[in-house]
Parts: sequence; C-alpha cells; structure tokens
Amino acid sequence: NRPPILVSACLAGYHCKYNGGSNLVPEIKELVTRRQAIPVCPEKLGGLSIPRPPAEIQGGDGFDVLEGRARVVDKEGRDVTAAFLQGARATAELARALGTRVAILKERSPSCGIRAIYNGTFSGCTRTGCGVTAALLLRQGLQLFSEETWKE
Ligand code: SF4
Repeated sequence: NRPPILVSACLAGYHCKYNGGSNLVPEIKELVTRRQAIPVCPEKLGGLSIPRPPAEIQGGDGFDVLEGRARVVDKEGRDVTAAFLQGARATAELARALGTRVAILKERSPSCGIRAIYNGTFSGCTRTGCGVTAALLLRQGLQLFSEETWKE
C-alpha cells in the first residue's frame, strides 16, 4: 500500500482560500475522492480564519521564515508569522505520520508556493522562492509539485 500524497486543500475544492474561495482542479479533487491524496490547508491548521486578509512573506522566502530572517505579514499589517510556522509544522507532522513522500501544492501561496511566491508588496508581483510549508516539507525530503507541474 502506497502512502497517500498530500495536496493543498484549496486545489481539491475546499473553500479555504483567504477570500473564502477555492482553487479547484478537478483531477486533484479526484485523487482525494479515490483516497490517494489527503487534503491539507496549512493556514487553517495554523489557526487562521476563513476568510482572512491575504498575507505575503516580507524579507525572503519560506526558508528565510524558518530561519527567522523573514516574516509573514497580512495586508492589514498584522504579523502572522507564528500562525504560518504552526501550520507548516502541523503539515510536516502529518506527512511524517502518514509516511507521505510527495505533495501537490498551490503555486505562489506564502504557505504552499513551490517555485514562486508573491514578493511582499501586495502588488501582485512574484519572486522566486517557496512558501513556509513548502520549505519545511522540502527540508523533510518530500518531493513537491504544484498544480502546474504535477502531471510532468
Ligand atoms: Fe490553499 Fe495552501 Fe492557501 Fe490553504 S494555505 S488556502 S491549502 S494555498
């Protein structure tokens, strides 16, 4: 029996996005329906509400947040770093408990982004780098794909 993969819950159609919406990709939802994937929303696990103000990493990427060199701030100026770290740790713990080796995560999210994240200016501009949860999962040795690359 192969261990389940983890997927960003919003990709599986859960309405956990900051604005209360989802990022449904029907084939990813299908993986959950077939019990091959477990949906997880790090920001919800971190205790953040739905809806919530959008947040971006300022001063680096997810690895820098893990090292205490960067922080996560929401659009209202609130420092939400602790919630993002808590959500990342809970997700990493779940991956460990399930024996998960692979995850499909939502690109550009400050939690789930893999190759790119918004650059901290709330202007829609992105930079190279990954989100906080993605960084911790990479450190834990998981192979990460986004909704844009998982079929490769
Ligand atoms: Fe989706 Fe990840 Fe954001 Fe949750 S934290 S809404 S799973 S991108």
